[in-house]
This record gives sequence, structure tokens and C-alpha cells, in this order.
Amino acid sequence: MGNSSNQTIFDLAVIGNGVAAQSFLWNLSLSERKSQNFSIAHIFSNEIAPACSLRTCATVSLNGIEEDVSPLGNDMREAFFLFDDLYKTYHPEGVEEVKRVVISTNENDTKKLLRRYKKLDTIKNPRIHDEHQGTEYNSYIISPEIFSSWLSSQITVAKTNFPFFAKDLEKRGEHFAVKLADGREVLARKVLFATGAFAKIFERFHAPPEAESIEDKNTIKAGSFLERDIDLGEKSFYISIDGNYVLYRRNALEKKLIIGSLTTIGAYEAPDVHGLSKLLLKMKGILTFDVGEMKDYKITTGLRHKGPRRLLIAGALDEEKKLFRVNGLYKNGFTMAFLAAKRLEKMIF
Ligand SMILES: Cc1cc2nc3c(=O)[nH]c(=O)nc-3n(C[C@H](O)[C@H](O)[C@H](O)COP(=O)(O)OP(=O)(O)OC[C@H]3O[C@@H](n4cnc5c(N)ncnc54)[C@H](O)[C@@H]3O)c2cc1C
Repeated sequence: MGNSSNQTIFDLAVIGNGVAAQSFLWNLSLSERKSQNFSIAHIFSNEIAPACSLRTCATVSLNGIEEDVSPLGNDMREAFFLFDDLYKTYHPEGVEEVKRVVISTNENDTKKLLRRYKKLDTIKNPRIHDEHQGTEYNSYIISPEIFSSWLSSQITVAKTNFPFFAKDLEKRGEHFAVKLADGREVLARKVLFATGAFAKIFERFHAPPEAESIEDKNTIKAGSFLERDIDLGEKSFYISIDGNYVLYRRNALEKKLIIGSLTTIGAYEAPDVHGLSKLLLKMKGILTFDVGEMKDYKITTGLRHKGPRRLLIAGALDEEKKLFRVNGLYKNGFTMAFLAAKRLEKMIF
């Protein structure tokens, strides 16, 4: 429906094109609410605001999380089983089920594993020197680019794309004007911010000047990892050693080794290079295959958004329930996004 100047007013503007926005739009594409024929504007700018969803290790595991221990644990379990169901029902491209091998090489990390998994076994694995205490269980590894393209191809709700950075938001009577970097405005009755860590950087977009900060308690946690393209002549594998990953993704489009990840608090794009080279050296001593040298790797950094107690943030920003956000996916974006999508669909439509 148009306004006085006949510019389209969309029912909803979704800002963001990471896993949070994509899973929301995908979920909507499967929903019976789709038949209501609402109009959607999809706004994103991965050039100016690089999506964490493409700069990530992207693994999915239950991690020994038990029921009714904490609200976060319950959400994580629900989110894991949603993803598990998604995998078994839709066979998404870019997702592979693998056995996760978790080991500890020192007393402190063995204690941590015992707290989490209650019982450990002796793990002997051809890729790891010596025997270690640990556990093994089924998990998923995801090739972020391939999965993102698959999700995008499965989004069938009618939407108009605006691949531009959103600079500002203005309330205009019953609707909002989202101001884009190219000078255009997108008008929408409701807006969903799925802007990842950038919510923290640009929070005043959607807050009246007198409003208290909703980002005070949230943090940006930059995470960095080493990655290299290499043919190890092996299938994909996923090993966790003392809380760090060694991942190998082998599929038709990728042969990628990943070692990581390390957190740099408060950083935007500055990885902990010293920490990463120490980690590589440590992995060299533990793994039986040649991981190579620092010069063989590229360092990738992604920005994660973390809310209080690591909880998922999915809900309305205003009393009128016209502005919504999905944030706080932190280290669990590839499961929590699908849980958030289900919750938000009920709130927004
Ligand atoms: C090193 C590392 C390892 C990780 N490992 C895992 C893991 O093993 N498993 C797991 O589940 N998760 C993992 N994560 C976390 C996961 O990647 C994130 O939680 C998830 O990608 C966040 O998704 P998002 O959609 O909220 O944000 P993003 O992917 O960051 O998407 C935000 C989107 O908003 C857009 N945007 C922002 N502001 C604007 C604006 N003003 N105008 C237009 N567009 C805008 C951006 O362009 C982007 O498209 C890891 C992250 C890192 C960094």
C-alpha cells in the first residue's frame, strides 16, 4: 500500500543478512503466515558491516548440556534439536554430520570436561598423538558460505532487496523511514534489526535520545581463527583440544583446515596474532598430521554480540511492538538463530 507520495510502505523491513536474518526469512517462508502476503524490505550491507555469519567456525553440538540446569541451557538444547530437525528434514547444503572428538591434555581441562560431560573415556585417535581423556559424539560442521547461499535460495517470501547500509531510522506517524546510505528511504510499518554486533555500534538508530541505552550490558567479542585451503586427503573431521578447535571441512567446494578460536575483548578487527601462533605451535605437538606454519594461514576475525548471561535477545524494542531485534547469538549463532526465528515470527505477525 502506498503513502501520499505513493511510495511503498512495506509491512516489515528486515535489516541484516547474517544467519539471524536469513533464518527468520527462511522460517517465514515455511510458515502458514506466508499466505498473508505481507511485503518485506530486506536491507543489508556486508561490505560496510561484515557478517559474522561468514567469519565463523560454525559448528553445532549439544555439548553435554542437560535439561533444566539454566535458562540458557534450556534455550541451547531447544535450539540444538531445532537444528538437528532442520538437518534431518531439509538436508541443507553446506552442513555435514561428523563425530566430534573432544580431548584434554592437562589436568585443568580434564576437570572442565568432567564437569560438562560427567564421564570421560580414553580417546585414541589416528590424528592425535598419544591417548587422552575425552569423549566423542555426533555434531555438525557448517561451510558458512554454502549454507548461507542455501538458506538464501530457500527464502520464498516476497521481498525487495536493498543492499545498502542503513544509516538512520525516523518515526513518521504510523510507520518508520529507514534511511539508506545511497540516499533512499525505505518505509515500513515494522522493523526487525538482525544486525549482529553492529547493534552495539549503531544502537542509537532506533532509540529516542532520552531513552536509556539497551546496549549498556552487551558486549562485542571479536573471535579470530586460522584458516588455510589444503588437501589433507581425508574426510571432514572436528576435534576439540583443551577448548580449541581443529576443524577440517572437505566437500565439493572446500578443503579447509581451521584452527581456533581466540577472543580479543573490545577489538574490532585486531586478532590476537601472538595467541594464534602459540595455539598453532601447541597443535603441531599434539596432532599427527602436518598443520604447517603461520605463513600458510589466513587470519579471520568475526564480531560476536554477547548479551547478559549469554542469553538470546529476541523481542520488541518499543511498547507499541513495532521495532524488534534479534541479538546475543554469541557463540551459538547457528542454532540460536532458528529458535529466535520461531519466537519472533509469533511476536511480529
Ligand atoms: C571465531 C568465531 C567462531 C564462532 N564459532 C561458532 C560456532 O562454532 N557455532 C556457532 O553457532 N556460532 C559460532 N560463532 C558465532 C556466530 O558466527 C554468530 O553468532 C552469528 O554469525 C551471528 O549472526 P547474526 O546474524 O546475528 O550477525 P551477523 O552475521 O554479523 O549479521 C549481521 C548482519 O547485519 C548487517 N548489518 C548490520 N548493521 C547494518 C546496517 N546498519 N545496515 C545494513 N546492514 C547492517 C550486516 O551487514 C550483516 O549482514 C562464531 C563466531 C566467531 C567470530
